[in-house]
Amino acid sequence: MQEEVKLIVDGRRIDGRLPDELRPIKIEAGVLKNADGSCYLEMGKNKVMAAVYGPRKVQPKHLADPTQAIVRYRYNMAPFSVEERKRPGPDRRSVEISKVSREALESIIMKELFPRSSIDIFVEVLQADAGSRTACLNAASVALVDAGIPMKGIITSVAVAKVDGVLVLDPMKEEDNYGEADIPFAFFIRNGKIESIALLQMDGRVTKEELMQAVELAKKGAMEIYKLQREAIMRKYRVEEEEEE
Ligand code: UDP
Repeated sequence: MQEEVKLIVDGRRIDGRLPDELRPIKIEAGVLKNADGSCYLEMGKNKVMAAVYGPRKVQPKHLADPTQAIVRYRYNMAPFSVEERKRPGPDRRSVEISKVSREALESIIMKELFPRSSIDIFVEVLQADAGSRTACLNAASVALVDAGIPMKGIITSVAVAKVDGVLVLDPMKEEDNYGEADIPFAFFIRNGKIESIALLQMDGRVTKEELMQAVELAKKGAMEIYKLQREAIMRKYRVEEEEEE
């Protein structure tokens, strides 16, 4: 018989968090010298790096769109980022994550301003602990701002899981492994307000009511992350100003 894993004891999760609490988050913008924009981000034990290049000439040329910029997004997990060594190179999972993440960001980038160009976003997972796609999207958003890419707003991403029958914000690995459902979200935030959902995936099972509650819980978490994204961007410009003075 499979041993039952208790994920919530006396209302607390195994890392001591309440159901509606995020893991500690650290964001630093502008960390890579050779990229146009970059961001290092930690969400709990996730450690990710995002680098943005562009708008720049499309390579190979035949991919250029005469009406707008093309956006490319590559999510990559380092072989050492997970417990069991990950085989290097793309796989089905990373191709799918790259596609849905790109679509979320593409919807807010003002592509029509840069015909025939490309905006390339690379995200590297250095350490993963569930929610790596959400950490990468948050880092990519900050890196895009750092690169000065015109956008209609910002993308902020967080997952909600159902564990021991309870909805929890920003699940960690054990909750993802043994939980009943995992629902990553990304929101489009404009002028400090959540305007729409830009990404929603799910595995497992929840009721319609639980899904509605999950949206509200994710929104609460996204607003907290959004504040940290803004702070990271402001901090970078403040440091640059101080260096100039
Ligand atoms: N994971 C792993 N090996 C893999 C893929 C994933 O160990 O090849 C782990 C990793 O910790 C990841 C977690 O499983 O963060 C959950 O993966 P999922 O596919 O749900 O994506 P994520 O939650 O990271 O966006």
